Amino acid sequence: MHQMAAANSNASPLLNEIQNYLRVTRDDIRVVSQRSADGLTRTLLVMQILSEEHTMNRLGAMDAADAIPAPYRDTPIGRLIEYHNLERPPDVYTQAQLLIGMCMDHRKHLRIPDNFAYILRAGGANLRYSEFKVSYAIAVGGVRAIALIGHNHCGMVNLIARQEQFVQGLVDAGWEREWAEQHFQHFAPMFEIGNEVDFVLSETKRLRLRYPKSIVAPLLYRIEDNRLYWIRET
Ligand SMILES: [Zn+2]
Repeated sequence: MHQMAAANSNASPLLNEIQNYLRVTRDDIRVVSQRSADGLTRTLLVMQILSEEHTMNRLGAMDAADAIPAPYRDTPIGRLIEYHNLERPPDVYTQAQLLIGMCMDHRKHLRIPDNFAYILRAGGANLRYSEFKVSYAIAVGGVRAIALIGHNHCGMVNLIARQEQFVQGLVDAGWEREWAEQHFQHFAPMFEIGNEVDFVLSETKRLRLRYPKSIVAPLLYRIEDNRLYWIRET
């Protein structure tokens, strides 16, 4: 178990770096220590805890119908939240009401009725390369609501840290090392999302401009409790 300690008042390059990385003020940073942890583990632990706290501060829980943000209530977005978070019994649909964009990650499962939604799954809920499919759901499917669902601990964050694992995995699967390296270097920058929350917000803005008559909601799926949260837009 780790212990929280008061903030170290000495300025350090590491704390400055963390502050810049998380885009938080010095007051948001606490030094966390862990017994028997080496320096590197401790640094990573600090980063992880701060990052999670920072993420949680940007989310709103939805544990009751009146906790759903007003603009989403009585829309397919609100219904999605009621089905998934609030155990609303399934209604019968003959036509999709909603487009859901979410990550390909295997740890997530939505509780929604049959026929309720189109679902596009792509790494990091990144719909930049699925635009034709988004247009299809709107133009042909007739939906006017889009739920963009990012999630914490997303593999599309800091892809570069997984380069060796990625390349070695392809080599093990029969690829030449050189092809595998080129493949990673070509595609990783396209699929890197930086930070889950910021990415969902930027995608939300982009989709609102692209499909101005549709309601677009930025949401986050939290792996630890399998619940949907709304993301503060400031
Ligand atoms: Zn993901």
